[in-house]
Amino acid sequence: MRYFFVWFLLTASSFAAATTHQQHLELQIGTEPHSGSALVNITFQGDADGTTELEFSRWAGLENLSDHLRGVQASYLDGSIIELNQDGDDGWLVDHDPNATISFQYQIASNSLQREGEGQAYFRPLVSAEMIHLIGHSALLLPSHYKQDFSLKFTWLPHSHTAAFNSFVGANDFKKDSVSMSELRGALFVMGDIQIEQREVAGQPLYITLQRRPDEGLDWNFNIALLADLAASITQAERDFFGDYDFPFYWVSAISAGQAMSEGYMFSGTLLHNNFALFLNPSTIFELNEPNGSPIVNLLAHEMMHVWIGSRISPELSTPVGELAWFTEGFTNYLTNKVLVHAEILSQEQYVTVMNEAFTALIENPAKNASNEDIAEKFWSDFDHQMLPYQRGHLVAFYLDHSLRSTNLESLIKTWLADGTWNQAFTLERFLASVKPHLAPANLEQLKNFIEQGSLPSWTSLQTSCFKPDGEKKLIQSAQENCF
Ligand SMILES: [Zn+2]
Repeated sequence: MRYFFVWFLLTASSFAAATTHQQHLELQIGTEPHSGSALVNITFQGDADGTTELEFSRWAGLENLSDHLRGVQASYLDGSIIELNQDGDDGWLVDHDPNATISFQYQIASNSLQREGEGQAYFRPLVSAEMIHLIGHSALLLPSHYKQDFSLKFTWLPHSHTAAFNSFVGANDFKKDSVSMSELRGALFVMGDIQIEQREVAGQPLYITLQRRPDEGLDWNFNIALLADLAASITQAERDFFGDYDFPFYWVSAISAGQAMSEGYMFSGTLLHNNFALFLNPSTIFELNEPNGSPIVNLLAHEMMHVWIGSRISPELSTPVGELAWFTEGFTNYLTNKVLVHAEILSQEQYVTVMNEAFTALIENPAKNASNEDIAEKFWSDFDHQMLPYQRGHLVAFYLDHSLRSTNLESLIKTWLADGTWNQAFTLERFLASVKPHLAPANLEQLKNFIEQGSLPSWTSLQTSCFKPDGEKKLIQSAQENCF
């Protein structure tokens, strides 16, 4: 029995412009020498009104993030302590002299989440003697009045680990003239016993890091060079697909997650800033040529696809998490497999198997007719509802791609990317308006009902003779050449 999870893409909030002069923030991360806790120092300019709110982001349904913290302290630069009050679960308030420069520090206590957690727990700060894995969203308390891009100086403090890597430049300290709060919240900071490999994709560096297995003396079932080669070929294929090569720095991070399993394996991932982070069970094996392709290749390609689907094109900000996951996750699934078959990483036979498995998973999901509002409501609490948009959206994209009359899905999405206005602006209404000119009225109606209610469309009405639907049992009986 194999286990295979791909976790949700989580995009950061954006912030409206409010002030005119550029703000500055300094961040230092290291370890506390005695306890091994993570040590975080943040220096910022306090708000002009004399009260600064420091907060985590609302992300991945994580709550009570302050429970990880110890020794939270704020002071002026002369060392005098400033009073600090916790404000709800995940915010802190500092009353200070207006505009004063404030140094804020805390420790993140050691925990056993990396070995004993599961699912979203890996998105929390992972702190142990073996590894520190901090995602800005859940590890950094940041001032809420930093609404415009700011300058950022980052320094690694002394730490007890073999290597350290961050989402902005890799191993080194850095100073950036302009960083957005969503970039910093989406940034990853890792310290641990990690191997580092570098590849080049279209002349730009792609870094791959892999934590050595923390269970003493045991090796992974694969070599980091193979992981790096797979990541590089998939990255090349997806950048070629979109014709998008603007990635001066990119990092794929993989760490051990959970304990070795006696049977099967599981893994998950999430897109971060200049990075996607993978959480691999120590039992993970690279099955590279299964009837439905390769799970690890699919994971890498899925997470990388979120650079475009879910990030460059992403939901309007007020959308509840999960409500547009039929697009961010389902279209990601569809396009991932389309790119892989274009790049001949996935064979046409494997592609047909993938589509039929997606179809079966959808019709066997007990929640298959849930509305997108229901999906959003139960997204973090019910697995069937969480998986539904991946399955439904995959088939919605397939239906749309083969219903479009004067264009195809690839071209349509490229026009959205070139247009540049779909970042944090994707809605169902805008999507339907955009596809409407390219669809017969009956296809548009079926597409809408499929997205909103899960009503299966009439597959035989597709504008293609490539696929031969086989009633309720299979979506595709067989595929012909030139159907992909
Ligand atoms: Zn995803």
